[in-house]
Amino acid sequence: MTFRDLNLNTPLYNAIDDLGFTTPTPIQAEAFNVVASGKDMVGIAQTGTGKTFAYMLPILKNLKFSKQDNPRILILVPTRELVVQVVDEIEKLAKYINVRVLGVYGGTNINTQKQAVAQGQDIIVATPGRLYDLAVSRVLQLKSLQRLVIDEVDVMLDLGFRHQLINIFDILPERRQNIMFSATMTEDVDHLITDFFTAPEKVSIAISGTPLENIAQTKYSVPNYYTKLNLLVHLFQDAETFNKVLVFVSNKRMADRLFEALDEFFKEELCVIHSNKTQNYRLRSIEQFREGVNRILVATDVMARGLDIDNVSHVINFDTPDYPENYMHRIGRTGRAEREGQAIIFSTEKEQDSLEKIETLMQMEIPKLEIPEGVEISEELIEEERTVIKERNNPIKRKDDDAPGPAYHEKSAKNSKENLGGSYKFKIAAKYKKPKTRGDKNYNKRNKKK
Ligand code: AMP
Repeated sequence: MTFRDLNLNTPLYNAIDDLGFTTPTPIQAEAFNVVASGKDMVGIAQTGTGKTFAYMLPILKNLKFSKQDNPRILILVPTRELVVQVVDEIEKLAKYINVRVLGVYGGTNINTQKQAVAQGQDIIVATPGRLYDLAVSRVLQLKSLQRLVIDEVDVMLDLGFRHQLINIFDILPERRQNIMFSATMTEDVDHLITDFFTAPEKVSIAISGTPLENIAQTKYSVPNYYTKLNLLVHLFQDAETFNKVLVFVSNKRMADRLFEALDEFFKEELCVIHSNKTQNYRLRSIEQFREGVNRILVATDVMARGLDIDNVSHVINFDTPDYPENYMHRIGRTGRAEREGQAIIFSTEKEQDSLEKIETLMQMEIPKLEIPEGVEISEELIEEERTVIKERNNPIKRKDDDAPGPAYHEKSAKNSKENLGGSYKFKIAAKYKKPKTRGDKNYNKRNKKK
């Protein structure tokens, strides 16, 4: 495929020639018609794949010259650096087009930005907070908006911008096209799509299901979090084999929990990165891991994305990612530069479906290892394991509000006819989840461990 196949116009062709590009990247080829069609779109692509032009080419091709002041295109990105970078890219591509582009972000004088907005703009590139402030001040009118692009939405949600995004959705015209790009699919991203997008088309560069040959993969079936932890501690005793280990977890809460637990055993050898840590903290962690000062790095999918670290001996999937693509990204961090890498995945009973999806994508079954002797099998459960997890990937998606909440489960538990083996008094007490009398010692003893 060439740029000619995209039926662009002369100003765009000239700009592309000046840039020296010859062929569209895969995401550009895939996304072009979808963006041009006006449908909602979710693009899965990482930085460096040419995603900025993937949405800008069709947008610029279809943006008619206009003298009106209110912007028609809004591009939201998580950081001010990205605002600057995206504006820069658009200016290069729009070199021969008469289009007004403005970047706005927090931490700078809002009045200067207000003046720039008031001059009239076609495309605004913004961080969510500053965009909202400008809109609330009424200097920025969003009623003419046609297309909304949210870039790096996974990072944005990870940084806690969900509420700001929803506030912005509230003040945008309902009839608009939503386009979003994310490097990783996460539960948060999935929820946002379900809640605010209309039948979006998913465009992703087919991730190769063929893992590198020099990555040896194994799996363990592990009943729960604490047993996973025991297994991990057991494996890490062998510091010679496990000499540079990247441990992946799905969210920051789990990252903190695991970090604290491992800290007891491997204090000096351990570091962590996730989005609640400051940029400095993250950079320091990565540096220490890279240099071998720390041999264990606990990381979330989103934060570990850009990591390029050599000689990672093992990638451990402490949980089983719901999206098989994330597994492929994770294990690709080892086995680099011809070296043999090891990838290990822990899965509970509940994670078996996700594991199957991964194995289906790779068209191979990961060899299973038995939990070594000496690893204590714990029966203790963490909070998330006690609550019933909602059915995922249901084609008839229900909204969060409709999902049975804790009360539902509480009720069914209360109604279950389990023989508690005690007197009727205990049954009543259990049913109403409180001691019949304060001094009922037996009741308290019985229910303490629940
Ligand atoms: P992005 O993923 O949007 O951050 O783009 C990564 C880099 O690739 C940017 O420096 C773009 O200028 C460049 N780029 C975008 N499209 C193409 C293309 N079709 N051919 C070569 N380079 C490109």
